[in-house]
Amino acid sequence: MFIGIDLGGTNIAVGLVSEKGKLIASGSTPTMSERDYTEIVKDMAVLAEKLLKENNIDKSEVKAIGIGSPGTIDSDNGVVVYSNNIRFNMTPLRDEMQKYFDVPVAVENDANAAAYGEYFASGDNASSFLAVTLGTGVGGGIILDKKIYRGFNGAGAEVGHTTLIKDGEQCTCGRKGCWETYASVTALIRQTKEAMAEDPDSLMHEIVKEYGSVSGRTSFDAAKRGDKTALKVVNNYVEYVAEGITNLVNIFQPEIIVVGGGISREGEYLIAPVRKLVEENDYNKLLRRTEIKVATLFNEAGIIGAAFAAKALIK
Ligand SMILES: [Zn+2]
Repeated sequence: MFIGIDLGGTNIAVGLVSEKGKLIASGSTPTMSERDYTEIVKDMAVLAEKLLKENNIDKSEVKAIGIGSPGTIDSDNGVVVYSNNIRFNMTPLRDEMQKYFDVPVAVENDANAAAYGEYFASGDNASSFLAVTLGTGVGGGIILDKKIYRGFNGAGAEVGHTTLIKDGEQCTCGRKGCWETYASVTALIRQTKEAMAEDPDSLMHEIVKEYGSVSGRTSFDAAKRGDKTALKVVNNYVEYVAEGITNLVNIFQPEIIVVGGGISREGEYLIAPVRKLVEENDYNKLLRRTEIKVATLFNEAGIIGAAFAAKALIK
């Protein structure tokens, strides 16, 4: 039995994960990220113990614990070096957790952990695998030789912060024109609002009235119902996604890339045109091609990936 913890800015999600990666039970509790880290870790431990008790599992059956946290991680020492999402600064998550559970504790970047989870779910044991998450931002995780690639300092795999357009949209990281500012759901919402302002007759206005606000789904829903302006938004967004993925394919030529995050629930409607564009533009035309598919775990990826990171510690 392993415990996987997905620490987010809003919620802490804790899960009991079997040896084979099955999520046996899970629960969540608010992060209240302004608190001291000792309080946050205490809540993780309390929730984990509650789940064990509810499922009649003895604490001694827990072999290791994995924590996926936002920020730059020193995984050798189980320390969050820095995170601006939760105010962590040289925060010793591993040592703190070991006050409650005397087992090995892995601390991993949350996007890396999620990628690792997806790798075990749909990576087909590939030696190279990338996961891209299209959400509030654009996150990524890189698995090379079946291991998480972190960069020498733990700050690697920030695929969303590679420039797509020089002097483009302002990014939260300080640069302009990052891929994230065009291919995140946040960016899609901005693009949708711009298109709606230009076309007062678009079906998107009616959809927004129905749901109350513009979301990542607005343009997709209207495009499926034949709205031309919405279709333009979707096609444009697909191109932004495909440009970034083509860059990743050209650098890594990975066996598999999975696309996750809220918008990936559009499934093949999103992925099929992305796949087509990448195949047209990929530098490699002759050799075996990267397989591009939708992620399968969604919200559970972080928990399961953290648990597998923990499992990797004891092998
Ligand atoms: Zn950026």
